[in-house]
Amino acid sequence: MASVAENINQTKTQLPKGVTLVVVSKTQPNALIEAAYLSGQRVFGENRVQELVPKYEALPNDIAWHLIGHLQSNKVKYIAPFVALIHSVDSEKLLAEIDKQAARCNRKIEVLLQMYIAQEETKFGFDVEETALLLEKRSEFPNVNIVGLMGMATNTDDMIQVRKEFRGLGEFFKLMQEKYGQENFHTLSMGMSSDWQIAVEEGSTMIRIGSSIFKQV
Ligand SMILES: *Cc1c(COP(=O)(O)O)cnc(C)c1O
Repeated sequence: MASVAENINQTKTQLPKGVTLVVVSKTQPNALIEAAYLSGQRVFGENRVQELVPKYEALPNDIAWHLIGHLQSNKVKYIAPFVALIHSVDSEKLLAEIDKQAARCNRKIEVLLQMYIAQEETKFGFDVEETALLLEKRSEFPNVNIVGLMGMATNTDDMIQVRKEFRGLGEFFKLMQEKYGQENFHTLSMGMSSDWQIAVEEGSTMIRIGSSIFKQV
């Protein structure tokens, strides 16, 4: 059975240059996260604030913690002092709260706008018009850097459908990148254990992998 470190290295050898691996450590015990850390991994993703904060406090402080799941405005304050990237900004209200808490911490917080690309009813995120509008208004949130987009494909075995969704997001990302510049707008977070190879082919620059790294250990 492969170890966490072996699974991470195996994934990394398949990644093109310029694609960042976020190891999704939600529900995993600190001992396994430490094993990943010792293999050299420094970027970890969590989807719940109440799980992220104790892990941040217990684990090495050079870890870049990403919040990848739906975030409630009233919880932003707990992660604002340290979070490296918030992938899941899905409302203007949330963006405004992140801006406010970033100012209180005297820092700029990097975020991605989450876009709704799946054929599912319960997913969070903006559509194309809402995203474009919010980007136009970005100067209203001076303590936030909107550095890219995030999306999750439909949870299905139909990889043609998945590719179609990733392709749409990838093309829109490129358009926005042309408009706002590659230095400012550089991150496209798409792809999980089941679909990251397709996501990378469609332009992903950041994949979020949990189960395939922590399986079998
Ligand atoms: C859990 C989760 C992942 C990782 O999914 P796996 O299938 O375990 O790789 C990626 N993104 C988000 C938003 C998640 O909640």
